[in-house]
Amino acid sequence: MLVRNIIGMQSRRVPNNIESWLDYYNNNYRSTSRVTCCRCHSPAEVGAHVIKMQGTKEWYLVPLCKECFKEEVNFEVEDKYMIKVFLM
Ligand SMILES: [Zn+2]
Repeated sequence: MLVRNIIGMQSRRVPNNIESWLDYYNNNYRSTSRVTCCRCHSPAEVGAHVIKMQGTKEWYLVPLCKECFKEEVNFEVEDKYMIKVFLM
């Protein structure tokens, strides 16, 4: 799915007193293997907010490393890595 990283969203409060968006991602992703950046497969450092670029504008959380997180660009992510988030 084609998505775009939106940097400013990181300041949103994480629900349920969870420490970071990456922890929130890990809690929801439920993988036994270590989560890696969905662009370059380095270790994940950030739970990044991305917006779907085609069809309905929906928001998702995906794991990124800090290098990839710096770039506000479009990229392809496999659906299985995406956790849906609801913005108020
Ligand atoms: Zn990366």
